Amino acid sequence: MSVKDEIHWTVTAGEAPAVQPLDGSLVVDVLVIGGGLAGCRTALGLADNGVSVAVVDAHNIGWGASGRSGGQCNPMWRKTPDALRKLLGATHGENLIKTTLESADKLFEDIKTFDVDCDAVQAGWVQAAHTRRAIKDMAALGKAWAAEGADIVELEGADVEIASGSPAYKWALRHAAGGHVQPLSLTRGYARAGIARGAKMFAGTPVSKLERIGGKWRATTPNGDITAENVVLTTNAYSNGLWPDLKKTFQPLVSVSLATQPLSEEQKRSVLPGSVTISDSRLAIYYSRYDRDGRLIFGCVGSTDHVDALSLRRLRAGLKTVFPQIANIPIERKWAGRIAVTPEMMPRIHEPAPGILAGLGFSGRGIAMTSVMGRALSGKLLGGNEHDLPFPIQPIKPIPLHGLTRRLIPLAAPSMTLKDRFDSLTNGA
Ligand SMILES: Cc1cc2nc3c(=O)[nH]c(=O)nc-3n(C[C@H](O)[C@H](O)[C@H](O)COP(=O)(O)OP(=O)(O)OC[C@H]3O[C@@H](n4cnc5c(N)ncnc54)[C@H](O)[C@@H]3O)c2cc1C
Repeated sequence: MSVKDEIHWTVTAGEAPAVQPLDGSLVVDVLVIGGGLAGCRTALGLADNGVSVAVVDAHNIGWGASGRSGGQCNPMWRKTPDALRKLLGATHGENLIKTTLESADKLFEDIKTFDVDCDAVQAGWVQAAHTRRAIKDMAALGKAWAAEGADIVELEGADVEIASGSPAYKWALRHAAGGHVQPLSLTRGYARAGIARGAKMFAGTPVSKLERIGGKWRATTPNGDITAENVVLTTNAYSNGLWPDLKKTFQPLVSVSLATQPLSEEQKRSVLPGSVTISDSRLAIYYSRYDRDGRLIFGCVGSTDHVDALSLRRLRAGLKTVFPQIANIPIERKWAGRIAVTPEMMPRIHEPAPGILAGLGFSGRGIAMTSVMGRALSGKLLGGNEHDLPFPIQPIKPIPLHGLTRRLIPLAAPSMTLKDRFDSLTNGA
């Protein structure tokens, strides 16, 4: 059976909202550029409060990472609450800790409130350690977040396999609030809910220029223009040169995924029981969850926008390592997408000019956190105080030697995999 190059979520998603390219001129209060989860959730928050808002996407709603994502709701950062306080300052640190603790429940609440049909399951997330060093770090992380109120327990020995179905790990954290969604359906659902509340949405509408004219912003697109008092940039890893240096604030790493054929009832009893999700501590992280039809979605770090033979080999090897009991299961589809990784692996908010806001850099934790960002950006535009934001507004700071390091991205996956192998050999748990 040949493996199709096709984003699995496009096959199982709810109907796409009927959006066309912009044709003509439009005036709105807020223009959102980028029709992914962050953009659609921002627009929804604004439309829900009577603000006139338009979303434009160069391709389509959910075309970017949001429609390619693993869809795992992993409601915790890689940093301890104290590290966040230090990084973001006391006010924003506290805001982010509170927002993070409620991020998963708020996501699943949003899904109900806005009647989004996205195969949502909140059955927990197993975060597994692959080395003794990772156990130490993860234990400290779990304890620190549990002390703030997160529902996290440590699993050891056979309990890890009982909880996850994977015999590959001896230690893990189990986060009760975690879960998974069909990410393209979630994005389309937010878009539909926004449209129902008056938001205007346009596909096939790349913005090529932003100009300040008479105290407002004018966005140029191939067949029309939009004038708005405020513009929100939610272009994440697919940012181009539209706003100077924005794309230099992160590295666009690649994540690759596969979808297996549906598992049998017997296989499902031993793999991810109860539809829990799993991810691990590798640099080239292995992550996995079910889709609604019992297919296993398995992902890791990739090299290019296309899943080449090497990336597919890496995916198959990962699947065999984590779930040897289904090592030879046929694979139906494979696809890739870009994640925006900032140096501190945390998203950022920028306000580089009056009336321009940008929220991006989710560093692979975008399912719950794009909604956190969307609520924060819409709240600010609705008159909220800057002190209430979960992230401080930062200047745009390009990564030094960005062009050079960006060219090395295809080497990231092989070198991370090599390092992971070395760590497993020398420090394996
Ligand atoms: C394969 C993969 C697996 C992932 N797995 C997980 C996971 O399991 N859990 C998790 O939490 N996170 C995961 N992530 C990350 C998460 O999916 C992202 O953080 C999130 O979807 C980012 O959403 P966004 O709206 O910011 O950006 P995107 O969804 O990427 O949207 C950006 C949009 O901007 C548009 N755009 C860019 N420039 C312009 C322009 N000039 N004019 C108009 N439009 C423009 C693009 O067309 C694009 O559609 C994964 C990502 C990938 C790629």
